[in-house]
Amino acid sequence: MVIKSINKKFTAPVLLSITLAIAGCQQPSRQGTFADSVRKNPPYAADIRHLTAGKSVRQRDINYTVHGSGKNVTLVIAGIHGDEKAGVVIAHKLDSFLAERPYSVIGRTVVILPIANPDGYIKNTRFNARNIDINRNFATFNRIDNEVNGRGGMTEPESIALAKIINTYNPSKIISLHSTLACIDYDGPSEVVARRMSKKCSLPVKKLGSRPGSLGSYAGLEKKIPMVTVEFTAKDEKLDADRLWAKYEKAILAGIYYELKQDDSEGKGNAADSDIRESDTQPDDRAIRYH
Ligand SMILES: [Zn+2]
Repeated sequence: MVIKSINKKFTAPVLLSITLAIAGCQQPSRQGTFADSVRKNPPYAADIRHLTAGKSVRQRDINYTVHGSGKNVTLVIAGIHGDEKAGVVIAHKLDSFLAERPYSVIGRTVVILPIANPDGYIKNTRFNARNIDINRNFATFNRIDNEVNGRGGMTEPESIALAKIINTYNPSKIISLHSTLACIDYDGPSEVVARRMSKKCSLPVKKLGSRPGSLGSYAGLEKKIPMVTVEFTAKDEKLDADRLWAKYEKAILAGIYYELKQDDSEGKGNAADSDIRESDTQPDDRAIRYH
């Protein structure tokens, strides 16, 4: 034994030093700034859960993240159409943004589903692996059964997973990210949120109309959940992640942080009426096919 070879009168101090070292009682390092210390020991612990809502037709996980646990819940959805990538990039950026700033979700919950249609995303197609448009597959009052929308409501695992998330978290509002109609649309009592987001970016508010069996019809019209649909531009699809986030960060955060009041759902929101132009409220023909 090493200790036996040490002179007796030094044995106790040496053992004490070893014990203190093991117990973590060494002198604190004088290196590192206060900022380093805060970064390593943030004042707010991250409250993030990584979850799976189900599997796609091709058995890919439909993953989502939950930030915070407050009563005010915002659900952000992207990639319901697999070939609309800008929203997926924004959703991932938002995920990182909130993860690095846990204090930003105090009192609220932000649920992020970045790729609602993973098979379509991998194949870069609008539809899922059975060539169904998930954004027409919800069981709604206005649904139309056909080979694109599905032969019934909720026939696809992707729409079932999305409905499961909505029914589990009962969000205060939903922000759905699409491309490339270059506007911000809304369904249900959410015009004021759409206006607020529009003020923070270059996209105008435009009423596209709720499509049969769409998420907007399901969540916005039937469940009365305020829902905003952001349609990024064709140019946005080509931007790199940092530029895309820089362009829309303020609008996305404005949508998340806007707290709807009772008056908002009655059309008396706190944004000025002039924020939306009359001509913008007419449904867009292209939306009938692509929205
Ligand atoms: Zn879309």
